[in-house]
Amino acid sequence: MSFELFGLSPAINRALTEQGYTQPTPIQSEAIPAALAGHDLFAGAQTGTGKTAAFSLPMLERLYPEGRKPANASRKVRALILTPTRELAAQVHDSIRAYGKYVGVTSAAIFGGVGMGPQMQALRRGVDILVATPGRLLDHMERRTADLSGVEILVLDEADRMLDMGFMPALKRILATVPKQNRQTLLFSATFAEPIKALAAQFMRDPVEIQI
Ligand code: AMP
Repeated sequence: MSFELFGLSPAINRALTEQGYTQPTPIQSEAIPAALAGHDLFAGAQTGTGKTAAFSLPMLERLYPEGRKPANASRKVRALILTPTRELAAQVHDSIRAYGKYVGVTSAAIFGGVGMGPQMQALRRGVDILVATPGRLLDHMERRTADLSGVEILVLDEADRMLDMGFMPALKRILATVPKQNRQTLLFSATFAEPIKALAAQFMRDPVEIQI
């Protein structure tokens, strides 16, 4: 199977060729068509399986159809990706910059351990895609620098690790703030303990389940 079969825009395919990607990984083969069709996803995938592209590519395609930002797009954050650690947030953000290089992606990564100032400036300028750790995102929400009222796509990356790290209360507060109507939710987790299933049951709409 080749990436061409997904019908992604030429701008995204060009970036994938540059990255040296020729064939989708198993999680990508399953997740990309389902996410492009607008479904919620409940996906079991370990690190190293290509899960970042599995959620980022359909997300970029849906935010930038035909490789361009729609004229009527909101100026608010349109896609929010939550990760357990700053390292993963930075890594996911780098991947999105690479995959979205030719679609004019605007994005920011916000995480703890560094100053708030540059992150506040990036949020004020406005970004389509925000990658964040839950604790630092709550800080920004409390200062009203992060407006999540326009979120169309929500990704929970390594959801099991977020719960292991005690982020359930933060996640619940964030999930209560993002729009419920017409929101697509993509959840990735290496394990599926009861709390993850409960989270999915509460916050997802008839998700497609993928196990690789
Ligand atoms: P991830 O599981 O998202 O952290 O990805 C693991 C590594 O695989 C990263 O270095 C990606 O750049 C790489 N990768 C992801 N998808 C592909 C693909 N389809 N072909 C080749 N490399 C890939």
